[in-house]
Amino acid sequence: MRPIGRIAICLSSCIICLVPAQPQVPPCFAGFEIAPACIAERGLNQKAALYERKIREAMVRLGASYKITVRLVNHPVEAGYDPATVGDVFTDVVRDREMRNESFIVNVTADFLEKQPEILFEASSFHEVCHIMNDDLTGYHRNGENIEAAEEHCVLKAIGEARYKQYLQAYANYQHWDESTYESYLEKVKNIVLAPPPGEKDAADRIAEQYFRTHADGNERLLVYNGELYDATLYSTRDRVWHDPKKLDAIIKAGKPLIFFHNHPAGGDKAAMFPSYSDFGTAGLFSFLVYRQDPDLTVEFRVVQLGQETTIVSYGFKGTAVEDIKRIALEYRNESARGTDVAQIEMRQNLLDYHLAQDSFNDYLQHACPVDLAREDAEVCTTHPQYFISPSDRFFVHYRPQ
Ligand SMILES: [Zn+2]
Ligand SMILES: [Zn+2]
Repeated sequence: MRPIGRIAICLSSCIICLVPAQPQVPPCFAGFEIAPACIAERGLNQKAALYERKIREAMVRLGASYKITVRLVNHPVEAGYDPATVGDVFTDVVRDREMRNESFIVNVTADFLEKQPEILFEASSFHEVCHIMNDDLTGYHRNGENIEAAEEHCVLKAIGEARYKQYLQAYANYQHWDESTYESYLEKVKNIVLAPPPGEKDAADRIAEQYFRTHADGNERLLVYNGELYDATLYSTRDRVWHDPKKLDAIIKAGKPLIFFHNHPAGGDKAAMFPSYSDFGTAGLFSFLVYRQDPDLTVEFRVVQLGQETTIVSYGFKGTAVEDIKRIALEYRNESARGTDVAQIEMRQNLLDYHLAQDSFNDYLQHACPVDLAREDAEVCTTHPQYFISPSDRFFVHYRPQ
């Protein structure tokens, strides 16, 4: 429901300018965002908490994990939203300095919370999270004019047709649709074909994936790509790999941009698609080895999980984390140029890797499965890296659509 716009136009020739008398709006009912004190005063705390829970549950069901804030609002038009297009529930994207999407705000009007049934809280929560998954991540409005039906299709797939029909019926009541509008919209939602995300697979991904497939002995491997692919595995088990220092040294000395690949065990365990905290620690070591050779070389890290569909995720460091590694690498270069002992520096670098690993978990990776990690059976993680974003100045995980 939209408030009626009230515009008073004063021509300069007016002698007496008549502005329609406005009823005095109590402060908690005026403006855009509703302050926490007003949420309490208006008795909306419980409904706000319920809506937040619906968002969390929708994310778990959809295999997504984002930082989403629920914002209760009065009148979207007062914050400049177009009254012709804005609804009672809509999502804003928060971007970081590089304009990458970082977190999200789901706006819900108080009117909606007060008047609509719980089933619409649930349906709209799924719908908004589907917006983020489908359209906010890799190109806004990918599904063009079908965008709303595309989100509904995503909801339908997650919860099944029986429950979805209940959602849509509740929405039809809310929108005062007649029976035939309901039926034709349901048909549209069922039959829509989603636009796929743009692929990012490159030559390195292809050749590495091929290598993992033809050497699938159930153990992990470490591959390095610098225009050609090398297997730098010295020894490995199912979930650990030791690198061959001599071989790696020679590859780094070639002085070309590097991509490190390693594989995680295939099988139903979705959490294995994410890099582990020790992967971040190892990435710290390899970055150091590269930067001490040449601080301008680019280095990337990717984890590959084979399956019916191959998942490839790139991960690594940003900002101060990269600066910290480069600083120690520079000290190493300076000391070894002087011919002094570098043992102290190597110890500090080990300590840095240890901290990078710890911090990657404490500050970042745990947000991949925030709900499940709090539980006893914490290994059950249903988040897909495709649907994970969390704000961080130091770490990133990026799913590479194939
Ligand atoms: Zn929508
Ligand atoms: Zn790993």
